[in-house]
Amino acid sequence: RARKRFGQNFLHDAGIIRRIIRSIAPREDDHLVEIGPGLGALTEELLAEAGALDAIELDRDLVPVLRTKFFNYGERFRIFETDALKFDFNELKQDGRPLRVVGNLPYNISTPLIFHLLSHAGLIRDMHFMLQKEVVDRLAAEPGTSDYGRLGIMTQYHCRVDPLFIVPPGAFDPAPKVDSAIVRLTPYDSPPYPAKDPVQLELVVRTAFGQRRKTLRNNLRTLLDADELEALGIDPGLRPERLTLAEFVKISDFLSDKQESRHNGAE
Ligand code: SAM
Repeated sequence: RARKRFGQNFLHDAGIIRRIIRSIAPREDDHLVEIGPGLGALTEELLAEAGALDAIELDRDLVPVLRTKFFNYGERFRIFETDALKFDFNELKQDGRPLRVVGNLPYNISTPLIFHLLSHAGLIRDMHFMLQKEVVDRLAAEPGTSDYGRLGIMTQYHCRVDPLFIVPPGAFDPAPKVDSAIVRLTPYDSPPYPAKDPVQLELVVRTAFGQRRKTLRNNLRTLLDADELEALGIDPGLRPERLTLAEFVKISDFLSDKQESRHNGAE
């Protein structure tokens, strides 16, 4: 019954479900958004506590099941039959309350979905996700480790990252092959290391990790040279995984300044 192409692994362990709900601690005045409600394992408990819940579900066969199940909640429960990757979360923000996003995410789209949500970080109070444990490790990774890369750096730019607990395969039907984990992401009101241009930062990080085993000098060749890196106090012979977020921001701001002065000079 579960559809592999939609990444469907339904939660059936009541203890784990309760623990997730306790971590989220939904309140009456919360506006929740659930990505991939499936058969409603989390939805049911969330609706019992929260003021309003908007669900985004791609599998059209599940939508009537959910509508029937939560019919009694009237306007408090809305369902959007669409792809969360393409969903514009601005559509939901009519009541002025920041969104609390939750989901036992389909693992095949979790990375692009997190990037998509980061682009809406200003609308969001917090996010609680079930992910492959390996992805949670990457979100929380520190410099100098093999898990550290673009996903962790860009998430840590926007959010505080709190890994909460591990969930074994047996909590799901069907059981996935790997361990899962719950993580909380809390967007900052203002990032601790603000970049002049976050789009530039994203480009620098992506380019720096182009080939993990190569040096910064090599990977960043198209953006700046070794002398410029040294002038910023950054050793061009380092591998990208050694750099802190603050150092990536430094490179990004240097490039923004360079572009700005070139632009002004051309006028
Ligand atoms: N929340 C349920 C639970 O915990 O039992 C189901 C979780 S299951 C891992 C992932 C859910 O996301 C499925 O219901 C699947 O149909 C849905 N889904 C898959 N791709 C999606 C997408 N692009 N947008 C929205 N929902 C999606």
